[in-house]
Amino acid sequence: MAATAYLVAPTLPPDYHRIVSPTLCIPSNPQISVPVGLLACQRNPLLLSLETTVVSVSVVQPPPETAVGARKSKKKAVVAPEVPKEPLLHVLLHDTVIFPEGGGQPTDTGKIETIADGVSWEVIQAKRHGGHAVHYVRLHSGIEVDAALIAFQPGAKVIVSLGQKDWDRRYDHMSMHTSQHLLSALLETRLNLPTLSWSLTSYPSPCYVEVPRGMTQEEITLIQVEANRLVFEGRKVHIEVEELDSEKEQAKEAPKLANGRAIGKALPADYTGGVKRVVIIDGVDRNPCCGTHLPTIHNLQLFLLPHTEALSRSATTSARLYFLCGPRLIAHLTSTHSSLTNTASNLSCGPPLVPERVSQVIDERKKAEKRVSDIEQELAEHLARDVVQQIQSSKEGSLFKKHIHRTDDATNALGFLSSIAFAMSAALPVDGAIPYVVVLSSSPSTQTTSSVSTVLVLGSNDSKVKAAGEGMKAKLGVKGGGKGPRWSGKFIGVWKAIRDDAIVDEVLENI
Ligand SMILES: [Zn+2]
Repeated sequence: MAATAYLVAPTLPPDYHRIVSPTLCIPSNPQISVPVGLLACQRNPLLLSLETTVVSVSVVQPPPETAVGARKSKKKAVVAPEVPKEPLLHVLLHDTVIFPEGGGQPTDTGKIETIADGVSWEVIQAKRHGGHAVHYVRLHSGIEVDAALIAFQPGAKVIVSLGQKDWDRRYDHMSMHTSQHLLSALLETRLNLPTLSWSLTSYPSPCYVEVPRGMTQEEITLIQVEANRLVFEGRKVHIEVEELDSEKEQAKEAPKLANGRAIGKALPADYTGGVKRVVIIDGVDRNPCCGTHLPTIHNLQLFLLPHTEALSRSATTSARLYFLCGPRLIAHLTSTHSSLTNTASNLSCGPPLVPERVSQVIDERKKAEKRVSDIEQELAEHLARDVVQQIQSSKEGSLFKKHIHRTDDATNALGFLSSIAFAMSAALPVDGAIPYVVVLSSSPSTQTTSSVSTVLVLGSNDSKVKAAGEGMKAKLGVKGGGKGPRWSGKFIGVWKAIRDDAIVDEVLENI
């Protein structure tokens, strides 16, 4: 990930995390695990490390990769770091700064230091099991499983943290996720376009929201301008939590489009944490979500890619609107700027002149290609005329045989040899009164063991043509085949004029 200067507030505003229910409290008993919804990473998304205690541990053999996992990896969405085939520790802590996947946001990676022995353990994923975040910890190769279980015995003190790489990854995810809330809210309120789904793609690709229809350039500009006005104002973000009334939530009918397609994501059916969590962007949006979100949208300039990708989905055509912000926007600007300046330098012009110069170069290339093709045609006719004259002045009744080898760096050598063959056929009488077999071959000017030389055999007698082709196949190792009066093939390696021309002559001699 490219280095980026983050302008994050160093401390979290004290009113970022608001418990709005008088009866909800964060469990303080270290033997109890804080439920997902109230985790430290959700209360303070800027927290990098936390001293806490182990609640439980187990050794688990990961199941073989399922079809679902395989299908997921084909999509562009962020793929969770691969789970190794060897057993893992599943560690439940009292609290954590490592976010388990949810709300469209992928899992964090991180580490846990067991304080008693000072060993640092890699957390490759965290996943929500029911209402709790379980850390998938990689076993150390030098530490026995039993010793690892002792290091993580319930009550053991640990420091759970995000390293620089883990934090860069999380910061990117939080930036894109927070922007997605802003973008979806504006699409909904300004254009009445609900977000059907969204995807947090792998860095540094743009993420996208899926909307029910394609958007015009004016609509995209309107949303971008409005979003960046709010970003400039630096609207604050805060979280409100209360007890979840599961029955009430489950009874709520998820909003649907006329075609029956559900809008957005419902509360996962297996969530048992009991916490209702709402993310609020001041004056813009209130949205239930379990993800981590920055405390403000300032510094999250939003760039909407000026194209939407239409998707055909049964009865309707939805579209993807791609967006960038934060570290990804900087990565995008850096890479597009570097492509532009490199191209400008190759074209010896300033960046603003690149589109004009590229059009000019394409135009010139088309003209040059046309001229090469015309001259090739003229040359083919000239070469053909020469051979035809030799055929016509040869001894009547005997088979005329000739091999012509050319050195030519043509991109389509067979095409050029075919033009010669075509011009010859056109110039010779159709009755085949003068029998002939001609071998045309062409090699590039610089040859290596993998170079390709092209061979074309043509003649007035199909069986003689075939015999010449088969002869070269057997004696020269030419790979090819043909039908009727044409046989073509390829010779791989260095075509040595003295040796290989002599073999062709010998083949022609024997037909
Ligand atoms: Zn969210």
